[in-house]
Amino acid sequence: MGDWQGDTLLKQLYTDTAAQHSLSFAEEGQDRSQGRTLLQQLIGIFPSNDSDEVKLLETVDCGTYIRKRIELSASPYSSFAAYVLIPKHLTTPAPAVIAIHGHGYGSREIVGLLPNGEADLNTPGIHQHYAVQLVNRGLITIAPDVIGFGERRLAEDMARNAEVANSCDSLSSRMLLMGKTLAGFRVHEILKVVDVLSEMPEVDAERIGIMGFSGGALIAYLTAVLDQRIRATVLTGFTNTYQDSILHIHHCICNYIPGQAVYADLPQWIGLIAPRPLFVEGGKSDPIFPLQGVEQAITQLQQIYLQHHVEEQFAYDLFEGGHEISGRYAYDWIQKKLTIFD
Ligand SMILES: [Zn+2]
Repeated sequence: MGDWQGDTLLKQLYTDTAAQHSLSFAEEGQDRSQGRTLLQQLIGIFPSNDSDEVKLLETVDCGTYIRKRIELSASPYSSFAAYVLIPKHLTTPAPAVIAIHGHGYGSREIVGLLPNGEADLNTPGIHQHYAVQLVNRGLITIAPDVIGFGERRLAEDMARNAEVANSCDSLSSRMLLMGKTLAGFRVHEILKVVDVLSEMPEVDAERIGIMGFSGGALIAYLTAVLDQRIRATVLTGFTNTYQDSILHIHHCICNYIPGQAVYADLPQWIGLIAPRPLFVEGGKSDPIFPLQGVEQAITQLQQIYLQHHVEEQFAYDLFEGGHEISGRYAYDWIQKKLTIFD
């Protein structure tokens, strides 16, 4: 008696929930395809825009690469912009990476721009201008604006507070009531990005990868699980166990997919990417995706890749740092995985 706060209740609920995990996702076969189908149902299904029409908004010569801004649409009700960074002097179709930003001011944060579109000449922040790092390794890099951030914050949120950080709360809470998730819509849009990339003459459609940071890594892993066209995946500042991160530390509501923890823990869901290549990166001092949970997740992912006899396709880097991108091994890893097929 005497536990008024409910902390014990939450802990016990998680223990009881974890005890019910019914799908191991370990072996290739029925359970894994069931896992993918289940995941699609859990994140929700959204109406599609069948048109692959792409509008060119601007083209800028950035010295070593060309930066285009395009507009595309995955749903009949909304469109979105993306930066496409294309290395100069390509002679053959090149590998491409979808770079998905986390919470912040949108795609400009990862292509070296300030929120107003001017060049960001300051020391890069936690996103490390990572799309520029990728294009400078010869990878065509597309950085879509994720809904809820920057220019894609809701007008009603902006009317209340022009400085509102994001629209995750407004979008998530209402979608949840309608049986859908914000993560699901974000994935829906990234799947359209894969379609559009595959049609670009500069892109080798057999060599498309994805790299996401934090909330962008959530979208990256969900997309990689659901779409076999993704040949290599980098997840930064995200991989963990539910108990050590999402269920233990305050996170944005956009991380919560109703019922997902009933079936498996986060490493098993991420493990549905196997046997395709996966690189996990984490800062040892990341306060919201703690080291202990990353290490547990890495151990479980190593086991999953071992069970698929492709242990060499899983790699990781734990670096001295916080909730941020390092890239010290990840950039070269994805460049190699998309350039040289094992
Ligand atoms: Zn969010």
